[in-house]
Amino acid sequence: MSAGAAVAKPGGTTPKRRHGCRGPRFATVRRALLAWYDGEQRDLPWRRRCDAYAVWLSEIMLQQTRVETVLPYYHAFLNEFPDIHALAAAPLDDVLRRWAGLGYYSRARSLHAAARIVVGRFGGRFPDSVGGLRDLPGIGRYTAGAVASIAFGAPAPAVDGNVKRVLARLFGVRESIDEAATEARLWDTAGRLVGAERPGDLNQALMELGATVCRPGAPACETCPLRASCAAGKAGDAASLPKRSPKRPAQRVRAAAAAVWRRGRILLIKRPARGLLGGLWQLPSAVVWAERPSKASLPGADGDGVAGPGMLAAALHAQFGVQPAVGAALGVVEHVFTHRRLRLEVYACDFGAAPLASRPAEARWVAPALFEDYALSSLDRKALRVALQGRRPRRMVPLGEKPPGDWCNGSTTDSGSVSKGSNPLSPVRPRRAVRQMSRRPTIPADGTSRSEPVD
Ligand code: SF4
Repeated sequence: MSAGAAVAKPGGTTPKRRHGCRGPRFATVRRALLAWYDGEQRDLPWRRRCDAYAVWLSEIMLQQTRVETVLPYYHAFLNEFPDIHALAAAPLDDVLRRWAGLGYYSRARSLHAAARIVVGRFGGRFPDSVGGLRDLPGIGRYTAGAVASIAFGAPAPAVDGNVKRVLARLFGVRESIDEAATEARLWDTAGRLVGAERPGDLNQALMELGATVCRPGAPACETCPLRASCAAGKAGDAASLPKRSPKRPAQRVRAAAAAVWRRGRILLIKRPARGLLGGLWQLPSAVVWAERPSKASLPGADGDGVAGPGMLAAALHAQFGVQPAVGAALGVVEHVFTHRRLRLEVYACDFGAAPLASRPAEARWVAPALFEDYALSSLDRKALRVALQGRRPRRMVPLGEKPPGDWCNGSTTDSGSVSKGSNPLSPVRPRRAVRQMSRRPTIPADGTSRSEPVD
């Protein structure tokens, strides 16, 4: 929407002045929404407990995530951290472990940081204004509006994806909602719609309508409480709204990970606190190739990523001071992040028996029985499944040599299953690794049930 464009009135007519939808028409929409919400709202746990902590937790968890996915995490999280004091007192590792699998891990890190501020600075009481809430880590305009209105009754709008869709259809907004001017106009409209009467319920009613009736693609206009006022419903083009700008294609990234076993335990390292999946545990790994920045910025990688084993060996040498033997590929994990499509190749590696010359600050040999004690993302769980499947053979297979039996006869999918077919990796033999191949490293049986620091 252009900056000067007017918002159409519910009912389809264009107002003479900007923001002409006010007075009785806003009141009509508000009344219809609240009446519908009172009768039709879903019974969700965060609607039974309206204190700021529970509302805040649910709103953070629901960002980019479906209700059905959030429910078990919400219960488990509240069970372990029942209030803001418990969350603030917990180590970040425990919070990340409880969050593991929910994705977007920066949310968990910000949640923990905000809890410590609320307890340390405000004695455990949340700020009750939008401005005060927005000063906390991880709380943006939407979350601040939701918490302020639901927990404190502030007349603040809260515009998420569902609300944008409902408002764009209701007011006949046909410009891209990804444009800043359109988004500003929707926030302005939402601010005028939410009144002093039950602002938290009004915001939740808009979200609920978007989730259950005014759905993407297939709005159920015939059962909608706003059908008498809706511009798009009357025009018959609701399914085509809201308009979106073309999406940027996902960046393709290729990486290699090492499955290194010692006395029945596998080597895990902790990612740096900041960045993608920060603070979570992973197999040691190296980025092989990425579309952006250009592959030329990744020395040693060629366009097909076939230098993966060599780059992995170099990365392991840099981190642990060893000359690792990098064996055959065990499988491939495909994983999609918001703007990245990752292909992670998992290789069997061996460090030999000598003590490591160096190690990252946080590295552990971890027995499979203890994986659940570590904060692991979905990606890392998939990679560990591949590593576990590949540890049965008793000897390493040099690169280029055909692996025995069913060890590695195909690629591994997201579910961890091994698909039939030729090995797509065709790994090359890295010089450092080749020198080590004659050592015949072995992968020992899992005879222990505890983890230990890396020597
Ligand atoms: S469901 Fe139909 S009538 Fe209701 S707000 Fe959405 S587009 Fe309008």
